Amino acid sequence: MQFNNTSQHIDHQNLHTEVHPVALVGAGPGDPELLTIKALRLLQAAEVVLTDRLVSHVIVDEYTNPEAEIIYVGKQCRRGASTPQRTINELMADYALQGKKVVRLKGGDVSIFSNVLDELETLVAHNIPYEIVPGVTAALGAAAYAGIPLTARNRSTAVRFLTYYKSDVVTDAYWSELARTRDTLVFYMSAETLGRVVDQLLAHGADAATELAIVEQATTPLQKVHTSTLAHYAKELGGLQLKSPSLVIIGKVVELHRQFAWRANQGGEEEYFKPVEGKLVAYGKDAKRA
Ligand code: SAH
Repeated sequence: MQFNNTSQHIDHQNLHTEVHPVALVGAGPGDPELLTIKALRLLQAAEVVLTDRLVSHVIVDEYTNPEAEIIYVGKQCRRGASTPQRTINELMADYALQGKKVVRLKGGDVSIFSNVLDELETLVAHNIPYEIVPGVTAALGAAAYAGIPLTARNRSTAVRFLTYYKSDVVTDAYWSELARTRDTLVFYMSAETLGRVVDQLLAHGADAATELAIVEQATTPLQKVHTSTLAHYAKELGGLQLKSPSLVIIGKVVELHRQFAWRANQGGEEEYFKPVEGKLVAYGKDAKRA
């Protein structure tokens, strides 16, 4: 077994540089206090922080070292201004090989619906040591802050993390399975396709009375929870302009929200995660922002 988390001396461009382990760190889903103590320690020591868009600005502004270089490499979905994965990989490797202490900060958990695999492959290819620090994934944050125990007794014995951002992600056979299961289903990145998720489940024989909850901006001060059933979704919630990010929980456990919700819905149309101003346009020794 070869471990990969100690500093290494790498002869890079004829310089003997001490290369520190790159920390791949989960920042949690929104509430900055859901950061782990380990993540906080690494952020305070980091000289370079490459951060996603879905990371609380409080974490970036207050918990990083004031001297650190902060680089926004967030994926912006349809809003433009997203940094290609290749650039993220190159930035991460280059700063590390320059001897900088690098944190790659990712929303939620590091491994759930993220491109961490590309980043790990890059680090291994460059022989750069690394460590992985888990974070609270959006499903767990949303469930907790909406008062929905994901595997509550007599309602569900398992939970699945899914996505349906494009139609070929879930096959027909799998829809049939999902329509029949009693497992709690949590859909990431599926706010815009939720109408189709509901249609598919109903078309494959799901119980129309199955409840669903949409949790907008979970764990932030702007969190809002909407509930309905598969049967009534289109009429009750189909017209909503959901705030990004949103997560969908489907299953019998959703009924528990009525009894155990502990946070009031916030009014207003504000967005907690602001679109990043300007985009990373150049990449070199000093990445500049437009
Ligand atoms: N690695 C992240 C997920 C990245 S995919 C994690 O573990 O949470 C991005 C998707 O996560 C969004 O489209 C949304 O479905 C979900 N998400 C992330 N943060 C969220 C939040 N604060 N509230 C609701 N959903 C969130």
